[in-house]
Amino acid sequence: MADADDAELDDTSFIEFEGMPALSRSTFQLHSFAIINSIKDGRPGFVSDDYLNAIAAETTTAAVELEAAGMWERRDGGYFIVADEMVKMAINFNEQSNRKQDECAQRGAHLPPDESRKSGWVVCDHCGTPLERPDGGPVALPNGGPLGPDTRKEES
Ligand SMILES: [Zn+2]
Repeated sequence: MADADDAELDDTSFIEFEGMPALSRSTFQLHSFAIINSIKDGRPGFVSDDYLNAIAAETTTAAVELEAAGMWERRDGGYFIVADEMVKMAINFNEQSNRKQDECAQRGAHLPPDESRKSGWVVCDHCGTPLERPDGGPVALPNGGPLGPDTRKEES
């Protein structure tokens, strides 16, 4: 359960999850991003040195902290995520969104949310694909399709 103090967390705060050691916020963020990236990479649970080197932020301290906490283990060319509960959750979430997007495509329509628009964003109630958005970015293709192309002009 989140308590009201969560809103006041800053970069020096520590985050504790059940069964997990306390980590600094930036370290926890790296852990989360690394998991998502490892799945996109097709190597769930493996954080490559290339990925860590590509991140603009300083990652060495965080990696050391995660290793010291027993959450990451050094392997050839990167780290293996020992604390894999979040990896499993992220994989499930990924598969679930893929499945829901397929269901919308088969239905031939997305499901607009019931609630009134607050922000100008309308996302499919089922799969979460944006249907309308104020920033001109990509929206779902017709007939329950996936996210369309980004028609915004790239500045060059
Ligand atoms: Zn949908």
